[in-house]
Amino acid sequence: MNALMPRPSILAVEPYVGGESKLPGVNRIIKLSSNEGAFGPPPSAIEAIRRMATEAHRYPDGGATALRQAIGARFGLDPARIVCGNGSDELIALLILAYGGEGTELVMSAYGFSMYELTGTWAGCRVIKVPERDLTADVDAMLAACGPRTKLVFLANPNNPTGSILPQSEVERLRAGLREDILLVLDSAYAEYVTQPGYDPGVGLVDSTPNTVMTRTFSKIYGLGGMRLGWAYAPPAVIDVLGRVRGPFNVNAAAMAAGIAALAEPGWIEKSVAHNTEWRGKVAEALTAAGLEVRPSEGNFLLVGFGSAERAKRADAALRQRGLIVRAMGSYGLPAYLRVTIGTAEECGLVTEALTAFARTDG
Ligand SMILES: *Cc1c(COP(=O)(O)O)cnc(C)c1O
Repeated sequence: MNALMPRPSILAVEPYVGGESKLPGVNRIIKLSSNEGAFGPPPSAIEAIRRMATEAHRYPDGGATALRQAIGARFGLDPARIVCGNGSDELIALLILAYGGEGTELVMSAYGFSMYELTGTWAGCRVIKVPERDLTADVDAMLAACGPRTKLVFLANPNNPTGSILPQSEVERLRAGLREDILLVLDSAYAEYVTQPGYDPGVGLVDSTPNTVMTRTFSKIYGLGGMRLGWAYAPPAVIDVLGRVRGPFNVNAAAMAAGIAALAEPGWIEKSVAHNTEWRGKVAEALTAAGLEVRPSEGNFLLVGFGSAERAKRADAALRQRGLIVRAMGSYGLPAYLRVTIGTAEECGLVTEALTAFARTDG
């Protein structure tokens, strides 16, 4: 008798490990492990979710028309070129399953976002992780890694977990060096937080090429990770493909209402960006002064280096004792680092104080 088995590639998938949220025996937990945005959900989004409760028996609009129109209006994009998803993770998975699969290769940078590898493996792609330079994607090396079977190239810009960013000229050089039959996915989950001048989250390349997609999310600056809402901006042929493979009701009604409300929340982005820029700078400065290695970041998090995996582990334990949960980076191949989300001013103060005390006592 043969045992029930999934497709062989499935058993090669390492399940995603998310940011933890509980510590046994600690009352007050401060969760700085999932880059969820410092301020919680926008008030108008909370109200919209409440209002939707009485309509929960109705199927949502499968075309997400009102939401796509709101996104289009907010970002100056044609709603017909937008597809919404159950988080951008869903859209990433649909793109990989649609364009990749057995016999194909997916190229990503060594410390790129882990979902590309996880879903690429699930799809049966050979996943090629290209060495980085100074924890930043290396365009030449990524181009050199592409072969006749490469169908997908992923770039998170800024990248999670490193915080690094490629200038627009480098992103354009990447696209220009890729064959026409390779889909380039620009994952701009942290676009709103970027302060570097000249940044384009991907709109320019999506408009000027038939084979580039930009993905965005409501999970970070819009504070709606629990609602699961993301979107893609893509050329017509890719929109057509996503329309065929996505579930007919892949985005739920509460998520759509929350997203529309969040986009209209007055001053939300401005307030969040100002806070993030200020505290990202302050925390980075304080931790650097404490002797820790702080990587430059264009996101709402900092990658902090401790010199060795053992010392990073001790730092993590010291933070946990104070109820502070950050993200260990062993699963990303960066065991000497911890990733710290920029939270509220108080949370930033607490994590800075705890890590400064740690650095002083654990030389
Ligand atoms: C958080 C994150 C996502 C996932 O976003 P969801 O919309 O919540 O699925 C995608 N890409 C990167 C780089 C992220 O950090």
